[in-house]
Amino acid sequence: MSLTSNSKSKKRFSLQLSAIIMIAVIAVSSLAFLLINQRRSSDFSYTISGAVDLRNWDADTDPAVVLGKGWEFYPHRLLTPLQIHESRSETGKAHYPYYQNVTIRTNGWTDLGPNYELYDYGQPLEPMKKYDIGTYRIELLLNPSVDYITVNIPDIAQAATIWVNGKAVRHYGSISVSKENYTPSAVCTDIQLEPNNDGRIEIVIQVANFSSAYGGIIYSPCIASSATVGTIEYSVRMYLTVLFAFWFFFFVGGIYISKTFNNKSKFYLFLFMFLCEILFEVASPMVTPLPGNWNTLLRITMLILSNYGTFLFFLSLYPPKASHLFDTTRFFEIILISSLTAMYIVVFWCFPQVLYLQSSVITNMVLMLICNAYNIFRVFYMNHRYEHGKLLYTISVILTTAINVSCFVRRQYFVYITLHSFLLLWLAVGFTLYFVIDYVHTYEKLAFNNKNLENAVEEKTKYITRVNQDLLKNHEKLLENEEARKKMMSNVSHDLRTPITAIRGYVELMLNAKEPLTREQEVQYLSNMHTRSVQMEQLISDLVQLTRMESENDKIEKMPVSIKEMVGDLFNLYHSECEGTEKVITFHAPADDDLLIDGDPKRLLRVFENIIVNAMKYTKEDGKIHIDCHRYDDPAMLGGNAVEVLVKDNGVGIPANEVPYVFDRFYRAENSGINKTGSGLGLSIVKSIMDKHGGKIWAESEEGKGSEFHIVFPPSEFSFDEEPPEDEEE
Ligand code: ADP
Repeated sequence: MSLTSNSKSKKRFSLQLSAIIMIAVIAVSSLAFLLINQRRSSDFSYTISGAVDLRNWDADTDPAVVLGKGWEFYPHRLLTPLQIHESRSETGKAHYPYYQNVTIRTNGWTDLGPNYELYDYGQPLEPMKKYDIGTYRIELLLNPSVDYITVNIPDIAQAATIWVNGKAVRHYGSISVSKENYTPSAVCTDIQLEPNNDGRIEIVIQVANFSSAYGGIIYSPCIASSATVGTIEYSVRMYLTVLFAFWFFFFVGGIYISKTFNNKSKFYLFLFMFLCEILFEVASPMVTPLPGNWNTLLRITMLILSNYGTFLFFLSLYPPKASHLFDTTRFFEIILISSLTAMYIVVFWCFPQVLYLQSSVITNMVLMLICNAYNIFRVFYMNHRYEHGKLLYTISVILTTAINVSCFVRRQYFVYITLHSFLLLWLAVGFTLYFVIDYVHTYEKLAFNNKNLENAVEEKTKYITRVNQDLLKNHEKLLENEEARKKMMSNVSHDLRTPITAIRGYVELMLNAKEPLTREQEVQYLSNMHTRSVQMEQLISDLVQLTRMESENDKIEKMPVSIKEMVGDLFNLYHSECEGTEKVITFHAPADDDLLIDGDPKRLLRVFENIIVNAMKYTKEDGKIHIDCHRYDDPAMLGGNAVEVLVKDNGVGIPANEVPYVFDRFYRAENSGINKTGSGLGLSIVKSIMDKHGGKIWAESEEGKGSEFHIVFPPSEFSFDEEPPEDEEE
């Protein structure tokens, strides 16, 4: 058993190892793939007379170029390229104030920081978030031999028009200076750019970014060959696949581990919220379920609710009434987190503008942090107490913290995930798989132990049942013995009383005789009395012998005995007795085989005598008795070479239904006749002698036709090698 469990645990170990290796390989290869196709920053910060110089850049061989720097930004203005040019050419000075060398950062910030220059110093500086609308402009200088390149603009919030070399190539939503007339739309696009004859490309993007702290161009556009942009999209798709795989692992793992929790519904709520959130994040770049700000509201609500789900899930990890500490804090925690969650949701839905304050990012983060702090606190407590769940709880915490934080940090730019969060997700997948395997391992171990326990119980039950059955059998046997004892007592007393009564009868007859008895009468009475007393003596001696034989101390003394000789002597005796009567007794034994067996001669004599006397007794005057001694034909009988004495007669026989009982004590067949004296003990004594010799005895009989008694002994150990004897007839 220990061998099997050893090989099992080895199997499990290799399963875990291969799972980890598999994850590592996939993670490394996906990471390499992402790294190769990442929009790596080939940063062209320098400009030639206002244009980003890309003349030496080859779209096919060089990495994609991120247009993070070198933008002009016109606050408060939705300007067409024409208006921009007119404003410059008329006065030599810009008609509209604008910022130069603005940096577009990921996560929606247009950085006017140390790199910007305000062209017209007559305007006061304002923080970016104050600009509800604005126009971005950038000029690229390409090698004139380049036919076209592709620009990938991942995200613009909320409505925009994109101009390329003076032509409006895309409209998203409707551009408007007033909040009432503008329709938001998520922008995610690829545009093909064809340079002018001199290799110049001017990109102008008008953006209405009402009410959003993250408005404007949210993620730096990037230019590359169409093929490279395509590859970037593939990597995004691959990421989505990974995301689904992760979710799948998480879900399957969750179902497995949820078996160990006391409150599964909390875990399922956690899973459900998590699923909704992921689906929303995945679907939202393509589909916006609600118009404008409602989308953001819905997204934030889900984030808060999934956080609440996580909190409940962790709360349910710890069974109630098992810790004084958690029992005291439980109520307080539920009230605190539930009311905070409710408050957040109510505030965001009643005052949506709050969402767009930068501080709301921080307050959301605080809520997550409070919950995670509780979760981590619980996990540490659990780890301390439950050695087994250690890994599980720790991973749960890592997962939830990672998911919450990365969801929050990335927000709607989920699709263009950073390497950091990609790695985090792989970590999570790895851990999920690992703890699923660990769980299955433990579960199997438990099942195995259970099975063992069940088997042990089953075996014990079987044992007890067996013992019980033995006891019942013993009990029955005891009852039977008791019954037999009673029967025997009554038989003995009856069989003793009969001759005594007869003797007393004769004595009384003689005593009370009025006239003196004749000599013949006296002889007659005395001889009857003698017969009866012999009968009594025989019965008593039979009883003594039977009792002695049944006692444990009765041992037979074995020595080699020639059956041929012993039975032959008996035959001679009875043969001479039969002389002068009509009875015929014959004998047959092999000439050259003494038929040696190992036995107690005295007891054996009793066996043969009893059987021969019975044969004489239960045949008529002209009965024929044949005694046959030989080797038994069947090699299977008593190991082969056995010696059989067959005593056959043509007497009264035994009724078929009584044959099985003739070896029972005091059993006398119906047809044994009242005249034939007998105790019914002879054959039972014979049987027990045969048993002690390891022999067999059985009777075959047909009523009215005669009986056969087969007496078989195992051969003497000295007689095995003897030659097969020749027959001798008498
Ligand atoms: P018993 O003293 O009555 O002969 P046994 O134990 O020797 O007692 O035999 C039991 C019974 O088996 C007999 O009473 C008789 O009915 C039957 N029996 C034994 N041997 C023979 C036989 N050779 N032929 C017919 N019946 C026999």
